[in-house]
Amino acid sequence: MSRQQPFVSLDDIRAAAARIAGRLLRTPTAQSASLGELAGVPVHLKLEHHQTTGSFKLRGATNAVLSLTSVERALGVVAASTGNHGRALAHAAKVEGSIATICMSRLVPENKVSEIRRLGAEVRIVGNSQDEAQAEVDRLVADKGMIMVPPFDHAAVIAGQGTLGLEIMDQVPGVETVLVPLSGGGLAAGIAAAVKGLRPKTRVIGLTMERGAAMKASLDAGHPVQVEELPSLADSLGGGIGLGNALTFAMCGDLLDDVILVTEKEIAAGMRHAYAAEREIVEGAGAVGIAALLSGRVTSTGPIVAILSGRNIDMGLHRRIINGASSLPEEVAA
Ligand SMILES: *Cc1c(COP(=O)(O)O)cnc(C)c1O
Repeated sequence: MSRQQPFVSLDDIRAAAARIAGRLLRTPTAQSASLGELAGVPVHLKLEHHQTTGSFKLRGATNAVLSLTSVERALGVVAASTGNHGRALAHAAKVEGSIATICMSRLVPENKVSEIRRLGAEVRIVGNSQDEAQAEVDRLVADKGMIMVPPFDHAAVIAGQGTLGLEIMDQVPGVETVLVPLSGGGLAAGIAAAVKGLRPKTRVIGLTMERGAAMKASLDAGHPVQVEELPSLADSLGGGIGLGNALTFAMCGDLLDDVILVTEKEIAAGMRHAYAAEREIVEGAGAVGIAALLSGRVTSTGPIVAILSGRNIDMGLHRRIINGASSLPEEVAA
């Protein structure tokens, strides 16, 4: 697949931007003096954790629900989710007059579960992995005719996440390097398609945690592989990419310039920096860009944009990290 023909095109992303316009926040960017000093080039933070529902996932979910027919919308939407996608889909379904059923594993933190229920979705907690939750989704699709909206491997979802890339190019036109949190790759694929569609030489780097980096392992292997799911401060980056991955594996392989792994300690330091220096509350997944900058793992000869992708963290855990903890508490990590 050549760079001129990604599976989701710049035109698809522009269409998504027109479809969701007025329904979501256009989140601001803020320049970070301290990170800029460290990196030796301007560093801008894209404050997407301020998005409605607390993460960028609302972009893809809204675009996907708006792309359904009224008959499909009436059948209801269903997804397996580690939290933020479920939350976004619950909100998008409610706003657009559909009903969401969200299936998730027991590893998902309680604050995310209750928030999804509060948003009006039906929650089903099944098994100990994303794959087991997905099996329940497949059953509801087969038995009840619900419409599956997956968290990342779906053209309308990728196009929705890609709208972030359009905003970044508009807000920081001279950006040379974009730092994108990476799990299933919907965000990275969408942003890379947008950014490289507008300016091919812009670098897009995926950031993920050392503990269970499924996309990185898959890219290294040359095909989707399963990795052991381990608890991490970046819980929103957990889960596999799907052995039958249709879009994001190929797009990430084609479009990403690099994938950088960060440790739990570095993620904790990133969250502390976001709070103390930038006055921002971000979850672990949202802090991986800052984490990589602080540890000197990113080099760029021009302006950098780091995406703060979400803020949905238990505030007790956030306080522990701010007060110096560098990992999940034992009772969670065990
Ligand atoms: C889902 C999520 C990611 C990763 O997005 P993918 O499309 O799965 O790569 C990053 N950060 C946050 C906060 C998320 O919720």
